[in-house]
Amino acid sequence: MKYISTRGDQSPKHFCDILLEGLAPDGGLYLPEHYPKVDDATLTRWRGVYQNQGYAELAHEVLSLYIDDIPAADLKALCRKTYTAEVFGSPEIVPLRPLEAGIWLEALSNGPTLAFKDMAMQLLGNLFEYELARRGEELNILGATSGDTGSAAEYAMRGKKGVRVFMTSPQGRMSPFQQAQMFSLMDDNIFNIAVEGVFDDCQDMVKAVSNDLDFKRRYKIGTVNSINWARLLAQVVYYFAGYFQATQKNTEKVSFTVPSGNFGNVCAGHVARMMGLPIARLVVATNENDVLDEFFKTGVYRVRASADTHETSSPSMDISKASNFERFVFDLLGRDGARIKSLFGDALARVGFFDLEAHPAFSQAASRYGFDSGKSSHADRLATIKDTYERHAMMIDTHTADGVKVAREHVQAGVPMIVLETALPIKFASTIVEATGREPDRPAKFNGIEALPKRVVLMAADVQAIKAFVASHCP
Ligand SMILES: *Cc1c(COP(=O)(O)O)cnc(C)c1O
Repeated sequence: MKYISTRGDQSPKHFCDILLEGLAPDGGLYLPEHYPKVDDATLTRWRGVYQNQGYAELAHEVLSLYIDDIPAADLKALCRKTYTAEVFGSPEIVPLRPLEAGIWLEALSNGPTLAFKDMAMQLLGNLFEYELARRGEELNILGATSGDTGSAAEYAMRGKKGVRVFMTSPQGRMSPFQQAQMFSLMDDNIFNIAVEGVFDDCQDMVKAVSNDLDFKRRYKIGTVNSINWARLLAQVVYYFAGYFQATQKNTEKVSFTVPSGNFGNVCAGHVARMMGLPIARLVVATNENDVLDEFFKTGVYRVRASADTHETSSPSMDISKASNFERFVFDLLGRDGARIKSLFGDALARVGFFDLEAHPAFSQAASRYGFDSGKSSHADRLATIKDTYERHAMMIDTHTADGVKVAREHVQAGVPMIVLETALPIKFASTIVEATGREPDRPAKFNGIEALPKRVVLMAADVQAIKAFVASHCP
């Protein structure tokens, strides 16, 4: 399988070439040249693989279709090392449980940091270590996080050879649990940097360092953000696993509702559907930051100014633009790279929006690609968390609540609706208490983490300061 850029660069690359790269050189995102089709016989075989041999073997089946530059035995070993019951809490890895008539929850949040980002990031950690060793190279990952991404990256990379993580976060903005998760890590290759500022200040610092090409090359700076194709690919696997748990045979269809911010998670659903997984609808659920809901309702994609981004109680979906969305629009517009370049590289930079309402392809977002959308507010989250707790004795986190709220509006008779559970409630305890009056359950391994010693440096929002810090920690 070869990979091409959404902005027209057709010079084909292999998986491991793009694994350690962020954006394509033309500013686009990488996608496979085509989506391999999974026929009925293969789908039946994969059903058996998941049921009888487990998630790691299913992951190997899916990944093999997209990765031809890692020997099969090595790729299998990487999948087996990643997806263990020990790390993800159950043999199913992503167990499905019924919520109410027609609605199921797929648990993606029982990994090391209790959010779905572990599903991809744990694999990425092992892929990075493997590929860096093979090349005899090192990588310094520089990132910005408002919570879930940073902790998932750190737990995936801790102790890995050849990798260091420098993670910036806005000082005092993460939940106490999230701060404790990250700052209690004592691994030599993990560096937490609390920035005096907001998330955008962190992101601006990271961008400024990445734009200094000399520094970037000299210190081998890389990223692990959600535009990385390997992360998206890892996420495709759990759409298949969810489908196999909800159905008995391949003639049945399911729908998914996906709490969305950067369109990474649901884009993996789009890929699964393009491969032939029988998905009826892919419902995009947003919070008050409704860039995506607006697009699917009106055809207008309008990025927001940072100042207009709402700070919500589902903070991991607080985005001003959806960085993976370009991938879907590339497919929607018939993979016309020149058009994507003019929309994303030009129109967005110039006027901050584009409008596809009058474009013949726009109606196909729903009819041909199955997309639908809805949004949720703080009041909706509180009501959904309370109601789910009172009626089903089940606590859900604030992002998953956005999904459940929107899913209830989109259930169709005879089609199981699977809501992806993107985090556990303990990560966002204060809103859960606000909704239910009770503290959420805490997995035993996290007892008392708030009291552990913390390892974090405080830094002004200053590009020179972070460059000096990175340089001083690289031999
Ligand atoms: C990252 C995240 C999301 C949003 O996922 P995207 O792939 O950016 O759409 C939703 N919920 C939680 C808990 C997250 O950490």
